Amino acid sequence: MASWIIIGSHRDAWTFGASDSVSGHVSMMSVARGLSEMMKSGWQPRRSVLFVSWDGEEPGLLGSTEWVEDRESELKAKAAVYVNRDAGAGGPFFSGSAVHSLTPFVHELAQSVDADQPSKTLYDRWLERARDQNPPKDGQPMLKVPPVGALGSGSDYTAFVDHLGVTALDMGLTGPGDNGTYHSTYDNPAWFKKYIDPQFKFSVLAAQVTGVAVLRLADAQVLPFDDEVYGKQILEYVNEIEKDATAKSSVESKRVDFAGLKAAAEAFARAGARARKEADALLAGQPPKGAVAGLNHRLMMAERDLIEPAGLPDRPWFRHTIYAPGLYTGYGVKTIPGVREAIDAGNFTRAAEQAKIVIRALERATRTLSAQGS
Ligand SMILES: [Zn+2]
Repeated sequence: MASWIIIGSHRDAWTFGASDSVSGHVSMMSVARGLSEMMKSGWQPRRSVLFVSWDGEEPGLLGSTEWVEDRESELKAKAAVYVNRDAGAGGPFFSGSAVHSLTPFVHELAQSVDADQPSKTLYDRWLERARDQNPPKDGQPMLKVPPVGALGSGSDYTAFVDHLGVTALDMGLTGPGDNGTYHSTYDNPAWFKKYIDPQFKFSVLAAQVTGVAVLRLADAQVLPFDDEVYGKQILEYVNEIEKDATAKSSVESKRVDFAGLKAAAEAFARAGARARKEADALLAGQPPKGAVAGLNHRLMMAERDLIEPAGLPDRPWFRHTIYAPGLYTGYGVKTIPGVREAIDAGNFTRAAEQAKIVIRALERATRTLSAQGS
């Protein structure tokens, strides 16, 4: 079945919105123009590429939410990846947040685009910035790789990830220069041209990195999802939450099946490793008809399996078991939110119930990934 790569950016703004989000929207439109030129010279993407210009983002992600809700069944069947471009040509530093099956993809993406300084890539500059912002403490080693953030909310990927379980990526370029202008009347073209990107260098870089992302996702024989990395990331979150829970109450925390959560995350990671090996084997030889499509379908559907139909406690619209904005953190993410927030609130009964839900979701995803030949 034909699957979709969707790229979206909002065009509404609180006032002028030169940075937020015209700078991101322009990079999306540049990519659309570039791909249309490629199509005129005969290129055909392996997957359909949908370009979506959102309205109503600022007052509550209205446009993207309505669109996703209206097309729920079609998106569930076809959406492979959603790429989000909000404000994002504000300086030389790439940053990305994503569903963590995409971590290696985002790293490779940043490695393949030259930065604003000679013989450096966007990846090098991203790592420099991440090291500046997270200096090693307590004898810990320096950051080895730039961190791919977890998706909370505050932009149009929210409905895709949190409501439907579509693998998503949010990225952009940032810099030091936007202090105080965010969501204000100072975010206007004169400010952007004078202080942020006088030669539109960063805007070109932003278009390049967006274009490479969309091209690779649209043309990859096998979707570049690494569920081994994803599973290990989930395991890290579980360990973190267990530590918090034990610090709160070493007795009560025993009611939560952390061993089961870890086993489920590990099994998911192992299934991810097998899926990657399967991909390598398929691509190395002459894959039997339908084998690559079958693998792609399983990779796509494993993310859907992490959706819990009943949703999170007290907010059923948010259905992803691994990512959600915190109930009290605005845009800020809470990973494995059902369990983590119950523990934050000291509600161990709820945490125990939620842990079961997360385990079941991970087991579903593991089964889907492992269902070879289906
Ligand atoms: Zn925005």
